[in-house]
Amino acid sequence: MLKLNNIKKNYETGNETVKALKGINIEFRQSEFVSILGPSGCGKTTLLNIIGGLDHYTSGDLIIDGISTKKYKDRDWDTYRNHRIGFVFQNYNLITHQSVLSNVELALTLSGVDKPTRRKKAIEVLEKVGLKGQMYKKPNQMSGGQMQRVAIARALVNDPDILLADEPTGALDTKTSEQIMEILKDISKDRLIIMVTHNPELAQKYSTRIINLLDGEITSDSKPYNSKKESKAKEKDDNKKTSMSFLTALNLSLNNLMTKKGRTILTAFAGSIGIIGIALILSLSNGVQQYITNVEEETLTSYPLTVQEESVQIADFLESMQPDTDKKIHNDGKIYSNDVMSGMMSTVAAKVKSNNLEAFKEYIESDKTNIKDYTTSISYSYNLNLQIYKDDPDEIIQVNPNSVLDDLGMSMGEMQSSFVSTDVFSEMFDNKEMNEQMYELVAGSWPTEYNEVVLVVDENNEISDFTLYALGLKDSSELPTMYQNIVNGTPFEVEQTSYEIDDLLNLRFKFVLNSDYYVKENGIWVDKRSDKEYMKELLENAKELVITGIIKPNEESVVASTAGGVLYLKDLKEYVINKINESDIAREQLENPDINVFTGREFSDEEFSIDSLTPEQLAYLQSLSPTEMAAVIENYEQQAGATYDDVLNQIGVIDLDKPASINIYPKDFDSKEEIVNIINEYNEQEQE
Ligand code: ADP
Ligand code: MG
Repeated sequence: MLKLNNIKKNYETGNETVKALKGINIEFRQSEFVSILGPSGCGKTTLLNIIGGLDHYTSGDLIIDGISTKKYKDRDWDTYRNHRIGFVFQNYNLITHQSVLSNVELALTLSGVDKPTRRKKAIEVLEKVGLKGQMYKKPNQMSGGQMQRVAIARALVNDPDILLADEPTGALDTKTSEQIMEILKDISKDRLIIMVTHNPELAQKYSTRIINLLDGEITSDSKPYNSKKESKAKEKDDNKKTSMSFLTALNLSLNNLMTKKGRTILTAFAGSIGIIGIALILSLSNGVQQYITNVEEETLTSYPLTVQEESVQIADFLESMQPDTDKKIHNDGKIYSNDVMSGMMSTVAAKVKSNNLEAFKEYIESDKTNIKDYTTSISYSYNLNLQIYKDDPDEIIQVNPNSVLDDLGMSMGEMQSSFVSTDVFSEMFDNKEMNEQMYELVAGSWPTEYNEVVLVVDENNEISDFTLYALGLKDSSELPTMYQNIVNGTPFEVEQTSYEIDDLLNLRFKFVLNSDYYVKENGIWVDKRSDKEYMKELLENAKELVITGIIKPNEESVVASTAGGVLYLKDLKEYVINKINESDIAREQLENPDINVFTGREFSDEEFSIDSLTPEQLAYLQSLSPTEMAAVIENYEQQAGATYDDVLNQIGVIDLDKPASINIYPKDFDSKEEIVNIINEYNEQEQE
């Protein structure tokens, strides 16, 4: 829990340096009663103050719960002191003109506990130290022993896991001292007590461990502790303890994690902030580790290690969301803003790390690394939306990206949509065996060609209505009416729909290339998506996407998707990207990197103005109908400021060597660690 690594403390006084501590190494147990003995001036108080965060070390490190405090800021120290530590001093430090009860309650007031709870807790601890009958007395009406008991009660009321006492009996007679020691001994049953004393007899009689200090150095330790050794011994006992601190920080209980919903939340969370992968977090928790070993392969497939172009470490992100303990108290009758967003954004801006995924992809595909020994599958994601439509001769229904939320009037901002994907089409694992292990084939067969897909249903042969709307199996134009009914409280019934397997297997989709939407007219490329006739013809001639089978997760499988959807092979993505790259519009743009193919003008970050048009362009404008002219000018305006990369993006040109993210699926639990090591090593090399 607490560990001091080579702690040194120097005091600078005038032109002299006092070396109060000269390299202290101690590790403490979760609960024990430690006495620190030594002559006056040997550094006892200094040591205690450093442990309690009242004073800062000059060098070395204080490890709290396995975490270094080297980077602790003032507010971190405050949090540590206020929530983990209780202090008892030789001279009691009580407020003399306030009642005993108020003195104890005050500690709780400072940590924001409501009044009835404060009173209840204060009375409980006063009872514990044998002062229940003296609650309304003032400290100056009490004996030294009683005052020290009040001080102990005050230190305990926040239920700290560490109690620090600096010569608590220094001012007391022997009998009273023994009473105080009895109380401390009792308290030490379920917490760590570190007591400084000059009295070896008391230390011998009451504490469980004695550390002797002389001239800033430890001369003896009666019962040293090494958590690493002990935890190894414990493992042999097969008596593993669950360490959940990291996950509790995420406010997720282990129980929550065991449910699919919990896992989905975690996956979404991980995906949303682009960390190196949820697996990394999971590996920090023993309890989860046990669980993962049980469902090894399946679990891991749902938690790939994802390396994104830009990533923020989860620890930094969580830190940015911690409440500010340095807060100024406002009591001037005004209301103040609490600036959470700015803190979060500055963390993200400062800590965001750019990964060169082109180089990393090259690296993992080369023979410079054995990463493939640890993976079942590696997949690359690109910033490309596949353009998929329902095969319907009468209507144009786009199913990917889908517009279900738009139809509901819930348009998601660009930022939000990059966090939460609503696509129901996704890529399959690039590993046949793994797919067959994760899913059971309900009907049909697995896809083998680039234009073949499978439909995923859940364990209970259901597909969520969201997916049905998205796939055009249900008509999403009925959603606004449904929503209105709900808002108005009008009763309406939703009947469960069922589908014949054969009908689903006969379902057809069509896909087009992103570049197919553009046609060259009068020297520039024009977006034809709003031209119904053009789109109809495009879709009539478009390639079919065939559903070859229906699959569902195996009973034991923990695939995150429970909503159903459509899975395609990586071949589809590669086919589309290669075709787009070969398209006329893409080639024209790639061959003329200075000229925007949508305007025929040079790339410029200036606003559009009619005056900048060439005589030919002006002549062309004059030849158009007012509607057409407006459209062309709007296009010019839209494209003003667009960069070469923006245009390539719009056309869908992708460099297959430059993925937007890399998903690495570990073979088993141990592999995951190896992969993390490989990524870290690679990053370190890169940085040099
Ligand atoms: P003890 O625990 O025996 O009372 P301390 O930790 O108080 O010892 O002091 C250890 C040494 O550090 C002493 O030499 C003391 O004079 C010096 N010291 C303690 N606090 C300060 C300070 N704030 N400034 C300068 N010297 C200090
Ligand atoms: Mg002292």
